[in-house]
Amino acid sequence: MTARAKTLTLKPGKEKSLLRRHPWVFSGAIAKTEGEPASGETVRVVAADGTFLAHAAYSPQSQIRARVWSWQADEAIDAGFFRRRLRAALAYRAQLKVDSDAVRLVNGESDGLPGLVVDRYAGQLVAQFSSAGVDAWREVIADALVELTGVPALYERSDADVRTLEGLPVRVGPLRGAAPTAPVVIREHAIRINVDVPAGHKTGFYLDQRDNRQRVYEATLGMPEAEALNCFCYTGAFSLAMLKAGARSVLSIDSSGPALELARANVALNQLDAARAQWLEADVFKALRDLRNEGRGFDLIVLDPPKFAPTPATVERATRAYKDINLLGLKLLKPGGLLFTYSCSGGVSAELFTKIVAGAAADADAQARIEGHLNAGADHPVLLSFPEGEYLKGLVLRKI
Ligand code: SAH
Repeated sequence: MTARAKTLTLKPGKEKSLLRRHPWVFSGAIAKTEGEPASGETVRVVAADGTFLAHAAYSPQSQIRARVWSWQADEAIDAGFFRRRLRAALAYRAQLKVDSDAVRLVNGESDGLPGLVVDRYAGQLVAQFSSAGVDAWREVIADALVELTGVPALYERSDADVRTLEGLPVRVGPLRGAAPTAPVVIREHAIRINVDVPAGHKTGFYLDQRDNRQRVYEATLGMPEAEALNCFCYTGAFSLAMLKAGARSVLSIDSSGPALELARANVALNQLDAARAQWLEADVFKALRDLRNEGRGFDLIVLDPPKFAPTPATVERATRAYKDINLLGLKLLKPGGLLFTYSCSGGVSAELFTKIVAGAAADADAQARIEGHLNAGADHPVLLSFPEGEYLKGLVLRKI
């Protein structure tokens, strides 16, 4: 198999990032492609002088023209390869002892499987195939996942925007076993949450914020009379943490009606006091201004917006959006109060995010102390050689 793979030859000097084990080959780095490899076909990537660099999956339509499977010349890219990679990803999660039955099992490039995300929600697996490479190996991966996890139900949520860039169609539906007919109930720490697998965001839920929700829970325990505000609440996971910890009131805002409907169901599922939870279907940018004009104040605020900068070209506009909500958030925060603020834009580094928030504080005439730097949980690992994997960053700020 490997011997017959077509060869992709790089331009002189363009081997450097691969030698540092960065897994992407951009179209501009390629001098010559042998034949016309099919979408997802395994190719041999070689340097300008012919030296072997990697086995990779070819993406004919993407700017990221190839994604590396292996740096070992003698490693065959076959069903055995995928089983080994999946087994390693599962073994890593098994020793993390995550306090939840919902875990990210495979995190794309960081698990050596570019473009593949697999989440486990209790007895339901959900996979997202976002690159031509993993898409071509979909059936092999599906069989291996079901066998290695012992979970028979696997749902496909291949509807991420990036699939368009790969020239792949949207595909949503059961891949193994039956489709869930109701929300899947997961447990995260002491909280139970309904997850809408077929229609929820991403694969249904934001697992990457698990540790941060626990941190908000613990902070709220220390402020039992807190009046809290959760912006971009989705199905209310941060709100539930604050309610469970005894916040006096939690106002949660999201523009998605279905998300808020599930959020209300989540309050009932946890037998929390619905009277302490207020849900507002609104645009956060406008709602924060309204709250400021009403002279409202909060002891605890969570700002967890969607990816404002999905591409490098949108970073500038995203910077203004992050600044805007953080400025308003800091104004609405009472002295001594806590702000948990996040960015999940890969194009906005932790350093830039801190600068944006510092600018917002200056403009809000607020002084704040950084009490923590936040990231995604350990089940969303990041490879040193793939800094793009580190998309989620956050700050815990105390207004002084
Ligand atoms: N904090 C959530 C995840 C937030 S995802 C959790 O822990 O699960 C971002 C959310 O922002 C989505 O639910 C989306 O519907 C919402 N959203 C996007 N733009 C918005 C806007 N301008 N105003 C209000 N909500 C918005």
